[in-house]
Amino acid sequence: MEKLNVESFNLDHTKVAAPYVRLAGKKTGALGDEIYKYDLRFTQPNTEFMKMDALHSIEHIMAENIRNHTDQVVDLSPMGCQTGFYLTVINHNNYDEILSILEKTLKDVLMANEVPACNVVQCGWAANHSLDGAKELAENMLLKKDEWHQVYKEEK
Ligand code: ZN
Repeated sequence: MEKLNVESFNLDHTKVAAPYVRLAGKKTGALGDEIYKYDLRFTQPNTEFMKMDALHSIEHIMAENIRNHTDQVVDLSPMGCQTGFYLTVINHNNYDEILSILEKTLKDVLMANEVPACNVVQCGWAANHSLDGAKELAENMLLKKDEWHQVYKEEK
């Protein structure tokens, strides 16, 4: 296949084994700062996807809470295919620590009593939220924590 500009467009989505956490890219700035982009895959591509209201709520809760665990987050955003998120961090290249930050953040989701900023002033689709759905996604992801480091299916 022709090589495309977007890293994940060159990833064979039939070969991955979700859930997983994968380093998807790295850029170094002129002053030496390093930006790392992680692919946090929650559901198996083309098999399962996160419902929009649940994904939207877990995005709000994670985006707010992950910043309590590190000040190196640049961005956390959902994938349009609704199977995962991209986490971008600056000057943070410790994969195991990323897993630990993700675990803490998902535990925050389980503890949440409300979805932060789910109102028409602070969100672009405030009617489209599900706290219960978000907790279910977090729970399923945490149950498979031991598998997060394995990105690809076992070779048969
Ligand atoms: Zn929103």
